[in-house]
Amino acid sequence: MSLQLVIVGGGPAGVQAATTAARLGAQVTLVERDVVGGAAHLWDCVPSKAMIATGERLGDVAGSSVLGLRSEPATVDLEALRSRLLELSAGLERRNVDLLTSQGVRLVRGTGRLVDAHTVEADHQGQLERFTADAIVVSTGSRPRVPDWADPDGMRVLTTRDAYPPPELPEHLVVVGSGVTGVEFVQMFSSLGSAVTLIVSRQQVLPGKDPEVAAVLEEDFLGRGVALLKGARAVGVTDTGDGVVVQCEDGRRVEGSHCLLAIGSIPNVEGLGLEAAGVELDGGRVVTVDHHMRTNVPHIYVAGDVSGKLPLSSVATMQGRKIAEHVMGLHQVDHRHLDYDKAASAIFTDPEIADVGLAEADAFAVGRKVRVTKVPFASTARALIDGDPRGFVKIISDPATGVILGGSIVGRNAAELISVLAVAVTNSLRVTDVAESLFVHPALSEALTDAAE
Ligand SMILES: Cc1cc2nc3c(=O)[nH]c(=O)nc-3n(C[C@H](O)[C@H](O)[C@H](O)COP(=O)(O)OP(=O)(O)OC[C@H]3O[C@@H](n4cnc5c(N)ncnc54)[C@H](O)[C@@H]3O)c2cc1C
Repeated sequence: MSLQLVIVGGGPAGVQAATTAARLGAQVTLVERDVVGGAAHLWDCVPSKAMIATGERLGDVAGSSVLGLRSEPATVDLEALRSRLLELSAGLERRNVDLLTSQGVRLVRGTGRLVDAHTVEADHQGQLERFTADAIVVSTGSRPRVPDWADPDGMRVLTTRDAYPPPELPEHLVVVGSGVTGVEFVQMFSSLGSAVTLIVSRQQVLPGKDPEVAAVLEEDFLGRGVALLKGARAVGVTDTGDGVVVQCEDGRRVEGSHCLLAIGSIPNVEGLGLEAAGVELDGGRVVTVDHHMRTNVPHIYVAGDVSGKLPLSSVATMQGRKIAEHVMGLHQVDHRHLDYDKAASAIFTDPEIADVGLAEADAFAVGRKVRVTKVPFASTARALIDGDPRGFVKIISDPATGVILGGSIVGRNAAELISVLAVAVTNSLRVTDVAESLFVHPALSEALTDAAE
């Protein structure tokens, strides 16, 4: 008889675990309480990047005179944008459902919880159904973190889930949190026409990122009129009826029409019956797992944001795939552990920012000798053709062996271009492997070969 796999949560992690395991011969049941495709499709990756794409096109039209075009100023149609986001999410869900059903996955709508270590119960509007499992994957994602000093109402005080898009563009949005999510929302709303103030708790946006990279973004933000309130820690937000006031620890106050909280997320571990199944939680919030994403109960796995590892859709998907392979015994044949230090990531600002592997600052912090080569996109014909010479490619390599350890890219299509360096870092390629590859001309990727020389 086939192995019975039951998955609770159908985001990128759950869907990938389901399709891979089904393809490998498991009998899979996936329990999802909301949208198949998860928060990633409904609130996170997809709508945020869709709104950024709209703002980007608006900017392209406004800046098109450089390419020899004359155009009327474009304006934003919020209703059309809202419909587009809903259609995107619905279309992606349809695609996921088709994929799952075509592979024989049993899709159960309802809220799942573990009754014991081998039983999952799904509750669909009070109708309970139980499934017996040889292995269980918990992939229930995460939700926005709300500080105890704020009470988001979805009208003026927003979490990232309330902002797609509001009925009217905020006149003046105050964004609390200058990490990846915060700066993407600054990008989104400033490019659509809102005035934006960003509260930055440290002295640079994107704390922890290469200062040279953060500087390019700050310059762009300031250039488009975004106010940066640095060294400011928000401690309160008040809805004044026709606006908001955000209070900072040092007494500074920022007035705006809306406030958006972008201060991280917390794993969804509550109400899942993990304790009943014998799964240990670390500090009550994070499930402890080994490198196969197994909990202390070896046939119960966690994947995606709920694992408390790197909260990226790409990572969630890969974890789902690795778990399915492990459940089906494939890891004994050919298995590479997930190395989170080698995950590429991108920030969809303008210009885009992407990096992978070792950062220059981290190498210096631990006294590691590295070779750093940096080439501006302005040196490529493509950047000049596109009329956008901003940004650069930076490659970090081992001076003795030439092995590529990491890299950062700032500029147009950085999120695509970083893939070259991701392959290099994952497979320990040397700079010469990149330098001697025949890339396309004219293309931005030529900056990569130049930086690898
Ligand atoms: C604003 C924003 C933008 C982002 N942009 C990007 C990006 O561009 N690229 C990127 O890689 N990452 C991005 N991320 C991160 C990415 O969204 C998450 O890492 C990803 O969604 C995690 O996938 P997951 O499968 O763990 O969970 P989710 O996508 O959260 O899916 C979990 C699913 O589990 C379901 N569920 C929960 N509890 C139960 C239950 N008890 N029973 C049944 N179902 C349940 C939920 O309904 C949900 O469908 C972004 C995050 C945010 C906040």
